[in-house]
Amino acid sequence: MTDTCFKEIRLTGINASPGICIGKAYLFDIEGVDVVKKYFISEDDVQNEIKRFKIAVNKAKGQLLTIINNAPEGLRDHSYILETHKVLLKDKMLYGRTIEIIKNEKVNAEWALKKVVSEVKSMFKKMSDSYLKERATDIVYVSDHIMRNLVGAETKKIADIDKRVILVANDLSPAEASQIHLELIKGFVTDRGGKASHTSIIARTLEIPAVMGLGNVTNIIKNDDLIIIDGTVGTVIVYPTEETLLEYEERSTKYEELKAAITRGSHLRAETVDGFQIKIMGNIELPEEVVSVINYGGDGIGLYRTEFQYLSRPGLPNEYELFDKYKDVIEVIAPKPVTIRTLDINGDKAFNNNSDYVEVNPALGLRAIRYCLKNPDIFKTQLRAILRAAAFGNVRILIPMISSYEEVIETKKILNEVADSLSKEGTLFNRDVELGIMIEVPSAAIIADILSEEVDFFSLGTNDLIQYSLAIDRGNRDVAHLYHSLHPAIIRMIKQVAGVARDKGIKLFMCGEMASDPINLPVLLGLGIDELSMNPQSIPAVKSMIRALKVEDAKAFMKDVLKQNTASEVEELIKATYGSILFEKVYARRKAFGDRA
Ligand code: PEP
Ligand code: MG
Repeated sequence: MTDTCFKEIRLTGINASPGICIGKAYLFDIEGVDVVKKYFISEDDVQNEIKRFKIAVNKAKGQLLTIINNAPEGLRDHSYILETHKVLLKDKMLYGRTIEIIKNEKVNAEWALKKVVSEVKSMFKKMSDSYLKERATDIVYVSDHIMRNLVGAETKKIADIDKRVILVANDLSPAEASQIHLELIKGFVTDRGGKASHTSIIARTLEIPAVMGLGNVTNIIKNDDLIIIDGTVGTVIVYPTEETLLEYEERSTKYEELKAAITRGSHLRAETVDGFQIKIMGNIELPEEVVSVINYGGDGIGLYRTEFQYLSRPGLPNEYELFDKYKDVIEVIAPKPVTIRTLDINGDKAFNNNSDYVEVNPALGLRAIRYCLKNPDIFKTQLRAILRAAAFGNVRILIPMISSYEEVIETKKILNEVADSLSKEGTLFNRDVELGIMIEVPSAAIIADILSEEVDFFSLGTNDLIQYSLAIDRGNRDVAHLYHSLHPAIIRMIKQVAGVARDKGIKLFMCGEMASDPINLPVLLGLGIDELSMNPQSIPAVKSMIRALKVEDAKAFMKDVLKQNTASEVEELIKATYGSILFEKVYARRKAFGDRA
């Protein structure tokens, strides 16, 4: 029953994991260790203090191990998140630096650790990338474990909750979220956190609704308050009226029905009414997202962005670490293909190691293949890891930001050198991998005929192709209204590349966001793209739309599309011609599922 003394309150946060749940709130409040005393130690006590710190670290390692071993079945594939936390415990930036401060400043371990955490926080704060910012929170979670052990603070456990509730917390670490048992915890809301956090990844994996980043929800909701979470749009309703409750019960049932229908449909082939098949692949950034690609019915990985393994850390990853990550993804999805894109560093994803080096115009700077060719050792390490991992499944290599013929030739030379050295060493590897290039710089689109002689496939990176062709910074809100996938210049450019691919007999893929919006599909089908790759959540809607189209109609439709003068005219034409299919296949579903469904 609702509480009639209180007025309904609606709060908006970040839609971290979709779905609706209704239930009683359970305030799970782990207080951070905020007050840390500083005291100085004598030279003689330094070794003892370091030992005390090491014991606290080892204890934290044991605690994480227990959580990993007791994690619910569905989270086993994600135990690497906590494994990463285990590795972070001994990270140079955290472990090494704390010991250094104890030694150099002769202070207690708690104070040294606190200082390191604030250094890490301010270092990550300067970064614009939300993924990287979230990685700083991983370090904070890990240090929190150590700090609790140092000060002997009590640890509350989610695993101890014995009633069916919705968790309300200031923050939840991945370690805490991993203790969630689905039969008891319906969903969660937090004051802090964001969509790129590992905690939200865990929520999406468990498929429980979550709204994060609400600010001060822990001050508004009390234990046992009846609340509703709509994780699809990021709404939390406290003290719902009878009317609201009925509305959300209905929505929740509808959501579950649609979810079941989508899952059923998403595993069907993407085949047009007239029998043309197109592969619908998933883009991933983190290895664990491969599970989403499979769940949403992807035909493989069309883009594995590998830079994130380089960004979230102080040093460079070695060949073995990279090999392990690639092998995991390749094996999980085999025999379906995995398109591994080589390092697309810099631009909007600046390299940590180079923090002193600031480019005036990074989007036009030492980015991607340019960086790799200038740093052949880094490039070779990655290529070795890819070729070795390729022995375990179906791999393609994709080179980003190619703008000239020479870059392709130089890349191939390095790839051959790497293969030769692996062969000489007698290491297990596979040289027989397809090599492709991103078409994302206008010069590459224009000389596609020249480049096609050297590669097996092209992949259209429309995010950058639009940025560079229309001179619109993809991250700048002020010019976002000018950023149009259906701009006649973009359509003509893709048409020219598609013509080359067809004449030269090489495959043409698209892995930019343009591929994920169903409104673009009549044009993409009409232009003859062989494979589309997108964020996994978009796969079901795109597949469903493809199954309602005819490729022959789409080809004929292109004649009219090419007569339009502006992006809006193209969009209007698509709506006028395909509006009813779009509405049935996409918009009605989006209303229930939120933007990305
Ligand atoms: C693109 O540019 O379209 C692309 C897929 O690559 P990224 O978004 O990683 O630059
Ligand atoms: Mg790009």
